[in-house]
Amino acid sequence: ARDFAPMHAARLRVSAVTDVIGIDGAGELVKFTRPMFQGKLTASVVAKTTPVIVTVQIGAFRADAVRRGGSASTSPVDVAIDTAAIRQQPEAPFQEAKQAVDLSQAERIVAVGRGIKAQDNLPLAQNLAKAMGAELAASRPICDSGWLPMERQVGSSGQTVAPRLYVALGISGAIQHHGGMKGSRTIVGVNKDADAPIFEVADYGIVGDLFEIVPALTAELVKK
Ligand code: FAD
Repeated sequence: ARDFAPMHAARLRVSAVTDVIGIDGAGELVKFTRPMFQGKLTASVVAKTTPVIVTVQIGAFRADAVRRGGSASTSPVDVAIDTAAIRQQPEAPFQEAKQAVDLSQAERIVAVGRGIKAQDNLPLAQNLAKAMGAELAASRPICDSGWLPMERQVGSSGQTVAPRLYVALGISGAIQHHGGMKGSRTIVGVNKDADAPIFEVADYGIVGDLFEIVPALTAELVKK
């Protein structure tokens, strides 16, 4: 879509807005939100034309929240493509892409933050993730420290995720982290600080020490 959308927009002489993570308003006044400079800024963009070609960031919107649109009409067009005219041939997928973790597709995520204190304590979160059948993710400081690979970072400069269940362990809930996981259906926060911002967005909050809570949760899940 990143190749196709701008080419299509240029051919139609209309605007293209890519990587959209939020849409506000309707019609000509619609405002699109999109990250810029690798997530360092979030821009509010108004297209100069209608129609406008828009692509959305993977994981930014929940498929089960899609609503039927307005009254745009569609007309079927018969297309005959001469296969000899196709100049692009797909090749085997890159090996890296095969191995990379696609958190945007995860149903359940256990995310770990600086509250975990040391890399040696990560198995605590890994065991909970395993018991839940969840992917392990992290806040930026954890990935910056090299405790987990960058592909596991959630947030405005990491991946955007929308799982059914997001468990945040020792994560304060900074705006840059929140930006990447706010689409989660159910958010559980475990933090020893009752005033941590994560509790403003959590559906369930456990105020306490993750080093006590996580093993107890894991033991219960394993028992079942
Ligand atoms: P902290 O903010 O240090 O929070 C640690 C939390 O753990 C605290 O709330 C504390 O109460 C709790 N805690 C400590 N001990 C325990 C315990 N024993 N039990 C339970 N709780 C405990 N951040 C991201 O995550 N993703 C991004 O993509 C991202 N992009 C950024 C882009 C820019 C341009 C900038 C400037 C920042 C970005 N950040 C990003 C960083 C962000 O601002 C925060 O600094 C970061 O999210 C904080 O990570 P944290 O919650 O793990 O750590």
